[in-house]
Amino acid sequence: MIKYKLICKDCNIKFDSWFASSNEYEKLKKRKFLTCHSCNSLKVEKTLMAPQLINSKSKSETKLDSLKHQKIKNTIKNYQKFIKDNFQYVGDNFAYEARSIHYNSKKKSKGIYGKASKQDLRELKEEGIDAQMIPWIEDKKN
Ligand SMILES: [Zn+2]
Repeated sequence: MIKYKLICKDCNIKFDSWFASSNEYEKLKKRKFLTCHSCNSLKVEKTLMAPQLINSKSKSETKLDSLKHQKIKNTIKNYQKFIKDNFQYVGDNFAYEARSIHYNSKKKSKGIYGKASKQDLRELKEEGIDAQMIPWIEDKKN
């Protein structure tokens, strides 16, 4: 037995139906025995089920992808840890702080990191201030 989630194209209602096999489903549909439980329309179709979509990709491939993803994530996390340990967080004041370091040579030159818009970065670059954009993963907030 196989269970399909069916959808009626007329009234948009979804319902489950049992068939002996997928062939039986096709047969019933061809002979127009498949009707909507609600409005008796013949425009009844199988809905795509999520598991089918997932299974279209081989399991090993999916695992590899997530491993690769995890590796990249770890690299970024390590990078973030290094930055957090060695740089000062200035939040949204990044552009301001970057300028104040650049123009005030007396200020101790500990690196800073923070948020900046692309516009900010472009302006800083025009002023000869070197800023790098790095990928950043927000810490999960519990
Ligand atoms: Zn219907």
